[in-house]
Parts: sequence; structure tokens; C-alpha cells
Amino acid sequence: MRFSFILGLLPVVLGAAATSPDTTEAPPSLNFGQTGVAPPTKPTFPPTTHPYHGDSPSSNLWTPAQKASFQQAVASWDGKEVTTKGCAVYADQTITIPVFVVVHYYSNPISNDKTRAHGYLSPAQVQAMIDQMNKDWSASKPRVRFALSTGTGANAGIRYVVFRKIADWNNFIVAPPSNQAELDVVTTIAENVRGPVSSRPSSQMRQLFIYTVKAMPDSTIAFAFLPSSSSPFSVDGIYISQEYLLKPASDLAYHYPHTLTHEAGHWLTLEHTFEGGCDAPNTLTGGDMVTDTPRWDLSSNFYSNACYYYKQYGYDFNKIVNPCPGGTKAQAIANIANYMSYSLAECTTKFTTGQQKRAWAAAINFRKFVPVCGAVA
Ligand SMILES: [Zn+2]
Repeated sequence: MRFSFILGLLPVVLGAAATSPDTTEAPPSLNFGQTGVAPPTKPTFPPTTHPYHGDSPSSNLWTPAQKASFQQAVASWDGKEVTTKGCAVYADQTITIPVFVVVHYYSNPISNDKTRAHGYLSPAQVQAMIDQMNKDWSASKPRVRFALSTGTGANAGIRYVVFRKIADWNNFIVAPPSNQAELDVVTTIAENVRGPVSSRPSSQMRQLFIYTVKAMPDSTIAFAFLPSSSSPFSVDGIYISQEYLLKPASDLAYHYPHTLTHEAGHWLTLEHTFEGGCDAPNTLTGGDMVTDTPRWDLSSNFYSNACYYYKQYGYDFNKIVNPCPGGTKAQAIANIANYMSYSLAECTTKFTTGQQKRAWAAAINFRKFVPVCGAVA
């Protein structure tokens, strides 16, 4: 198996699209909140085509053995994480994840300019991204916090990698690995700032690296790698397209302030709510391996992106029909609100209790975080 040598680091992808909405299917401008305003091109309900999303579920890249091992680990945590680790009161624990952001950008060697259009992010802009992650994760119990590293040099919270040739920068298009060449690119990105795997301390598994790149193919917005207990963490981290980061809030299809929240979920082993589709058992070893996230189906573009149509065209959520047999309307709405769905930022507001427990268990068991008792100032 071509991925066996990466020892369980598996990419998961957010937002791969079959076509480029930038050029061919850009959604019309919105009438946000203005009910009764007829959109210019209202699709049928549900629409048969979708303007921006595709799907690359993480399970596409699992070997059966890897999947089985992962499921076994997840199932083994059930119930134990509340009694065997940390403080006396399960919910009153905190882990702080040190975050390292690697910003790739182009700058003319003479003018040495730093512009957003060329990928530059100021420290304040990076901090705002981390603040959003913390805001979204703030309801998680026990607590999961993200903190930019305060070190210097190789431990700096923000590292800049400068391209001096615009052509090099424009070609810095990074794909979620589906072959050796693509994996080599991702590995190089990580090794450029983290060094070879053989020289890294085991504490690296507790370091969340976020790499911004020029762009990703097929309108992919970001991808991350699921951890495993045997992983060397060679390419561990979140990779995110700076082209997406430029999208304004008015661009519903591409404005994803919660993308890092979603990707951090992957980093802590959470999978998409639609993993396995409607047929997956809603168990610790089936689907997304979280029992309180309803079964879901991504085969219909509409259902995975109902938020978009709701916001774009003013559809009434009460009209939504759960795509899974036996599924309820409430479950459908809950899925659209879940950070690990492919819903839009405007609709995603929560992790389920099961997802919080799973992320916590992964942080303690896979990434070996040692929690502190109580909150951290
Ligand atoms: Zn994802």
C-alpha cells in the first residue's frame, strides 16, 4: 500500500470542488437576511448541482488495517478518559496546544513588500485566526486551548518562508497527498521548518503546525492529518490555502472562519459527520466513530451544504428533509450546525458532547497531552 510508509498519517480534506467557482460558477451576491428578495438564479430544491463543494473523505486513504487499528483505539477509550487521566472532575481539566504558524508568501527582493495578495499574514492576522479557534473550541469540556508559541527562532509562533520569485510562489500549489509526488511536497514543507523526522523530539506530537500555502487544486480549502499512536508525525499539521484566507465575509461559498476549527478537529482525530454515509452504523467503530452525531450523507450536494442554500436563497430550514432513512429534521439541522460537517461558517456553531470527549481522549492518548486541573488564565 503506497501510504503504509507514512505510518498512519492520513490526510483529510475540506472543500474540494469539481469546478472552480471563482471563474465559472461564482455564486450571485447575497441578500442576507432579506427574506422575500428573489435570488437571480434560484436552483430547484434540492439542487442537482452544487457551486463549490466536493468531497474527499479521510477514509479514502485508510488501509483496512489502519482503519481497524484506529477504530480499536477509539473504542478502547470509551469511558476511560473520564476516570483515568487528569483531575478529579473530568470536565474541569485543560490542555493548551502550542501552535506554530508557517506563513509562505512572495516578496520582491528589492521592495521587500508584505502584502496579503502575496500570502503575507501579519502577526495580528495570525493571532486573529487563533482567537477564532479558541472561541469555537471554548465550549469544549474538558477545555482545549490553542496558544501561539512564545518561543524564538525555531520555536517561534510565527515563521515566515519568503518566495523571491513570483513564478515560484504562483506555482506553490499544494495538494492533499494522493500520490508520492504530492506527499513529497507536503513532507518538504514540514521538514523545511521542523527538520527531518529523525531529529525531532517526541514532544512534536503535541505541536500543532499550520502551514499556509499559495493555493490548492480543485478549490480545496485546507487539509489536515489524523494522528495515530505509531505516527512519526512527518507531515503532521494543517495545510491551508491562502487564496481562501483572502475571501471576504460576503463570499459565503469561500469564507470559512471556522476552517481551522474544523481542521483542528481532524488533528484531534475527529472525522466528518458524513463519514460512511447513511449506511454507517452510529457506533464507536462505525461512521465517524462518534455516537451522538447523526448519520449523514454527502452524496447529495444539497444536504451537505444546506446552509449555503439557506443563506443564499432564503430557504426555510423547516423544509429540510433528512437524507438518511429514519433520520429526523432535528438531526439534519444539528448536522448543519456541526463544525465537522461541510456546512458553512454561518451555520456551524458546535461540537457534540461525543466529539468533545473523542477529541479529548485523542489529545491524551494519541498526542500525550498532560492536562492541568482547572482553567488556565
Ligand atoms: Zn474535513
